[in-house]
Amino acid sequence: MKPASFDYASPATVEAAIEALVASNGEGKVLAGGQSLLPLLNFRMTRPSVLVDLNGIEGLSYIEDRGDRIAIGALTRHRDLEHSPLVASRLPVMSAAMRHVAHLAIRNRGTIGGGLAHADPAAELPMLAAFYDARISVQGPNGHRVIAAQEFFVDALTNCLEPHEIVVEIEFPILDHDGWAFEEVARRFGDFALASIAVSVRRGPSRLEDARIAVMGVADTPLRLKAAEAELVALALDDEIPERFSEIVVAQVSPNDDLHASGEYRGHLLGELSKRALRTALAQAERAA
Ligand SMILES: Cc1cc2nc3c(=O)[nH]c(=O)nc-3n(C[C@H](O)[C@H](O)[C@H](O)COP(=O)(O)OP(=O)(O)OC[C@H]3O[C@@H](n4cnc5c(N)ncnc54)[C@H](O)[C@@H]3O)c2cc1C
Repeated sequence: MKPASFDYASPATVEAAIEALVASNGEGKVLAGGQSLLPLLNFRMTRPSVLVDLNGIEGLSYIEDRGDRIAIGALTRHRDLEHSPLVASRLPVMSAAMRHVAHLAIRNRGTIGGGLAHADPAAELPMLAAFYDARISVQGPNGHRVIAAQEFFVDALTNCLEPHEIVVEIEFPILDHDGWAFEEVARRFGDFALASIAVSVRRGPSRLEDARIAVMGVADTPLRLKAAEAELVALALDDEIPERFSEIVVAQVSPNDDLHASGEYRGHLLGELSKRALRTALAQAERAA
């Protein structure tokens, strides 16, 4: 199918893009990489009166070291994140996860702002935002505000943006950890995840000093599992820890059945991935000691 007709605006600034959205009376849509929006247009599942293309706005594509955090412009492509040495050294879980985002052609065009705004519960970027406790900067007719990742994702394919707001930057705090892992199962490499987990730890002599856990594909939004983090840190570092960790993680989620998998199967996958991820993270932390 082909899209219903629409007007096209190519503003040169974020302010002009917001003006174009306001002028559309809520009927306009932002276009970034187009990798999720264009299929929706072609199937006529969305019929905006105007597409406001962000690609002509300079200064929205960057990856910047700000000391204790990495700032990423909303128009930064998935492929740039995948190949960034800065991301690899400071946000290693993101670096590992980006290879799993769709296929090469999609990664060449898709943007971080689009990936977050689309809010797919089985997509890596929303999960990474939850994992790192990212701060999402948005600009709209009423000015600028910063939204915590845990508030940004409201439901499947639903974010908390007000009408005419545009994501402009995302800041990812750096974790002071020494072991990490990202594990995912999808039907084919590059498909959306059936289940996935990201784990990062700082290892002490007999216990973990800190842990970070996020999962996706098992709820309507990505989840950071704070209660599981606290339980993991309280466990002794013995041979049983991957098994116990797996039980802790699975107890935190109740995935639904859907077209792609039963909830029971997704839970089973998550349990296996949890064991694998923790073993990898602990081994890495031990090597770093
Ligand atoms: C076959 C296929 C497989 C895929 N597999 C995966 C996968 O495995 N993992 C994964 O993470 N993603 C996957 N994707 C999605 C891909 O990552 C998209 O690029 C991404 O979801 C949307 O980014 P985009 O820049 O293309 O946004 P667009 O398609 O341009 O926009 C998507 C939505 O976000 C809004 N939007 C875009 N930018 C902004 C902004 N700055 N501020 C506010 N709103 C904005 C648009 O209005 C639209 O509603 C897949 C896509 C396809 C087609």
